[in-house]
Amino acid sequence: MSLLEGKTALVFGVANDHSLAWGIARAFHAHGARLAFSYASQALERRVRPLAESVGASFVELCDVAHDDQIEALFAKAKGELGSIDVLVHAIAFANREELQGTFYNTSREGFRLAMDISVYSFIALARAALPLMPQGGSMMTLTYYGSEKVMPNYNVMGVAKAALEASTRYLAADFGPRGIRVNAISAGPVRTLSAAGVSGFKRMYREFANIVPLRRNITLDDIGGTALWLASDLSAAVTGEVVFVDSGYNILGAPAPTES
Ligand code: NAP
Repeated sequence: MSLLEGKTALVFGVANDHSLAWGIARAFHAHGARLAFSYASQALERRVRPLAESVGASFVELCDVAHDDQIEALFAKAKGELGSIDVLVHAIAFANREELQGTFYNTSREGFRLAMDISVYSFIALARAALPLMPQGGSMMTLTYYGSEKVMPNYNVMGVAKAALEASTRYLAADFGPRGIRVNAISAGPVRTLSAAGVSGFKRMYREFANIVPLRRNITLDDIGGTALWLASDLSAAVTGEVVFVDSGYNILGAPAPTES
C-alpha cells in the first residue's frame, strides 16, 4: 500500500544520512511521495544532493532559515517548480555549543535569542510561507524532545526552545485547522546525529537509554519515519496539535526500573 501516492513533501533539515529528516524522507519515498529538500548551507550541498537524488528528488535548494529573504525565495521557487505541496517537515534546531553544557542560568541573551529564532520561529515562518502552497490542506510536522517538559542535564536553552516549539505547534494547528492543514510534533528519543553530538553528555545518555526504557531499545530512523508517515498520511486525518512520542516509552516513566545487581 502506498500511503503518499500523488503527494509532495518538502523536507527541511537533512544534514546527512543520520538526520531524523532523512529517516522521514526515506519512509515517505517508500510510500510513493514526491520529495523536495532544503539544506542549511553551501557546505551541506555535497552531502544532501546525492541523498536527494537517491530518492528521485530534483528540487534541492539552499535556505538558511535565519533569513526571511531566503525563505521567501525558496517558497517562490517551490511554487514555480512543485506547484503545490501536501506535507511540510521542519527538522531544524540550533544552539551554540556553550549553551548546551553546565548550568541553565548562565544562558546568554544572544544564545537564547539564537536558539529560539532557529529552533522555534523558523517553524512559524516556514509554516506561513507554505500556506499558499497547500490550498487542498495537508500536514505539517516538526521534531521536538522531552527536555521541553522535564529537566534534562545540559539541554538547557534547547529545552525552553522545545517547549515554545510545542506551544507553537498547537497555535499553528488552531490557525490552520479550518484550512484542512494539520500541525503536529514528533518527540523523539535520542538518536546519534550531528545536532545531538552538540549536547554535552549525550553519548552516555544514549548508551544508558536502552537499559531504562520500557521497550529496552534505542529508537531508529525507521521508527521516526514510520510515525512521520502516519502523520503525513490520511491515517491520522483527525489528529492535530499533538506531540507524539517516539521514545520507546521513556516519557511514561516516573523512575527507571531497578537494574539487576
Ligand atoms: P541534524 O542531522 O544535525 O539536523 C539538524 C538540521 O538543522 C541540520 O540539517 C542543520 O543544518 C539544520 N539547521 C541548523 N541551523 C539551520 C539554519 N539556520 N537554517 C536551516 N537549517 C538549519 O540533527 P537531528 O537530530 O536530525 O535534528 C533534527 C531535529 O530533531 C531537531 O529539531 C532536533 O532538535 C530534533 N531532535 C533530535 C533528537 C536526537 O536525539 N537526535 C531527539 C529529539 C529531537 P547544519 O548542519 O548546517 O547546521
